[in-house]
Amino acid sequence: MRRKLVVGNWKMHGSLAQNKALITSVTAGLRDLDNADFAVCVPAPYLSQAQSLLQGTNVAWGGQNVSQHEYGAYTGAVSARMLADFGCTYALIGHSERRVLIHETNTTAAASFGMALKAGLTPIFCVGETLEERQAGVSEAVVASQMIAILNTLGMDVLSKAVQLRAVIAYEPSWAIGTGRTATPEQAQAMHVFIRKQIAERDASVAGRVRILYGGSVNPSNASQLFVMPDIDGGLIGRCSLNPDEFIEICRTACETSAVAG
Ligand code: PEP
Repeated sequence: MRRKLVVGNWKMHGSLAQNKALITSVTAGLRDLDNADFAVCVPAPYLSQAQSLLQGTNVAWGGQNVSQHEYGAYTGAVSARMLADFGCTYALIGHSERRVLIHETNTTAAASFGMALKAGLTPIFCVGETLEERQAGVSEAVVASQMIAILNTLGMDVLSKAVQLRAVIAYEPSWAIGTGRTATPEQAQAMHVFIRKQIAERDASVAGRVRILYGGSVNPSNASQLFVMPDIDGGLIGRCSLNPDEFIEICRTACETSAVAG
């Protein structure tokens, strides 16, 4: 059985003081929960703080993006090795905000995925369609093209390595991110099955092991309906990851739904 995972994406929020208070509350609230995995992806300047406050706890940490390059003259970029230097376990890759606002493409996301693996990080590869794409009935085609960018560019060898590193896919329809509008559990489940099928066509055992998270306005009220779906292996949480009570509640739900699934 796949172990559930809940990852907070703080985006560009926080300060040294706010982070300290948030991490202190979250780690206290999650201390006794052990049948799911938890992590927070923090802004790069706070990686050192995250490392010092989270090491030794059951909450891992990660970066919010990875450069497609190993090193070089790329002002403002953050390399996979830099994230690894600060003890990161995870790295978000291809988040829709970066695809839309920073113009990251399937090609750059695939290159970043490869860099993350090379540095020993677990990539959390984000895929998902826009509202216009869903309304036009091309959601599956869009997600397939995002998946193919990884599967074809990197090949199955890399994907097998990715699975050893417990690589994660996050289905995040961009119309549900930060909008308060959530995909229904059935819509999310259907897309998760589709994503798993894309991988299964190349390797069924890899497909069975990859964790697929749902992201998009998950909150304490809707988490359990989403997490009980058989192909939803947890959540990528934006807004509610900034509120310790809400984030803890969502993590608790992941544990409870794991227990049900088990
Ligand atoms: C996200 O940023 O990945 C996200 C899912 O945000 P929210 O939970 O706020 O929709």
